[in-house]
Amino acid sequence: MPKFDIVVIGGGNAGFGVSAVAHEAGKSIAFIEERDFGGTCPNRGCTPKKVLVAAAHSMHEISLAKTHGISVGTPKLDWAKLIERKDDMIGFIPGAMKGVAEKRGTVFEGRAKFVGPNTVEVNGKRIEGENIVIATGSKPRALPIPGAELMITSDEVMSESELPKEVVFIGGGVIAMEFSHVYAHAGSKVTILEAAPQLLPRIDADAVAAIRGQSEHLGIDVKTDVRVHEIHEENGRLTVLYTHDGKTQQIEADRVVNGAGRVANVDGLDLAAANVAHDGIKIDVDEYLRSTSNPAIWVAGDALVQSPQLSPIATHEGRVVGHNIVNGAEKTPDYLASPSAVYTVPALSTVGLTEQEARDQGINVRVSVNDMTGWFSSKSYGEPVAWAKVLIDADSDKVVGAHLVGHHGEDLIHIFAMAIRFGITASELKDMPMAFPTFASDSKNLF
Ligand code: FAD
Repeated sequence: MPKFDIVVIGGGNAGFGVSAVAHEAGKSIAFIEERDFGGTCPNRGCTPKKVLVAAAHSMHEISLAKTHGISVGTPKLDWAKLIERKDDMIGFIPGAMKGVAEKRGTVFEGRAKFVGPNTVEVNGKRIEGENIVIATGSKPRALPIPGAELMITSDEVMSESELPKEVVFIGGGVIAMEFSHVYAHAGSKVTILEAAPQLLPRIDADAVAAIRGQSEHLGIDVKTDVRVHEIHEENGRLTVLYTHDGKTQQIEADRVVNGAGRVANVDGLDLAAANVAHDGIKIDVDEYLRSTSNPAIWVAGDALVQSPQLSPIATHEGRVVGHNIVNGAEKTPDYLASPSAVYTVPALSTVGLTEQEARDQGINVRVSVNDMTGWFSSKSYGEPVAWAKVLIDADSDKVVGAHLVGHHGEDLIHIFAMAIRFGITASELKDMPMAFPTFASDSKNLF
């Protein structure tokens, strides 16, 4: 049986994070992947999605042309061409990433499962690891309703070449918000059915209200506090039965998308065979991301549900695990000021605490909320939404959170992330010279 210092299960951000550190330290690595090297982010997530989002942005820009005195005809997005463009852009990735994996270790292609505390099996072959890293990512949450199998996932949204005329998203999380804006800009009729009272439940409530307003302005029908009962199919059309406002209702669509979030992709690993403690949702790990029941096993990336499912976080956790295997368990992951964005049009960008979290932590918080649509920079571009909430600790003058909708917030958010991470005070930010007129210079007037 071949033996390695490290067996990495999963060739995504987390697996590559582990292998980068371990390879540099001269460790022997077995790299196992059952689908595409590179994993979700470049093949079926962030990167291809952004190609679709960019097209939606173009449609948005064209819709603003009139504001500037520019006449254009009615724009039409050719969905099949957009999908082809996306495929052209990312097609080389699995091969290129497999090449990187081969430079770092021995590649095994197939599905791995545990057969012992230090052993996995792939395609009937057993491999032993002094350390084994679970970096198997996430998968869409299964919905316990009749007809759930009729739903598609983000994979099909980004690969089907026909644009559906009517789409229903079950769940109003990040994936639903992003793709609902893409579909709406492409001309589909979109409905979002969310079980909770708020879309994007973990994000600042006022920021979510701002993007909900823009979503409705685009024609997206948003319903919250919904209970979906069943989906059924007749003659290729899907019907979703749900309860809202105390009434049972139904809606028809060509496609129903699972937008109910993602769970750790670990149930096919036979964790019990490796004595890995797991409560059905999460693997028990210590602060060094090591299994509490089997010290040979480590977890990183989306498979670790205790931290946000984001690509930079998966890479960071992978590097932390790599470091701890090479140097002994001494490093803990650092999640302070990890910015993220929901790529709606425009994006909702966020870093640090929500207002509620700041209050719950007893921070003497100073809250500045600004609608910037009337400011010159927004007015020049005719943007319909430009909104910001900045949270300052009034005692220390430190930024504790920022939530931006529009206004190039997905880039501006890094100013606030740096302020939080490096303890730059609000007064110091205000003193920082910035090119004018820019959205960045506006950011100094947001608090
Ligand atoms: P993955 O990248 O999923 O890699 C896990 C790998 O393990 C997969 O390649 C899988 O095939 C393999 N695998 C699983 N089980 C086995 C097994 N038993 N044996 C062998 N191989 C196995 N994040 C952002 O930061 N920004 C975004 O804009 C963004 N957009 C997204 C859009 C979509 C539609 C989706 C689905 C996700 C998006 N994400 C985004 C999240 C991001 O893609 C993930 O956080 C990131 O890919 C997680 O990396 P990972 O290495 O943990 O898992």
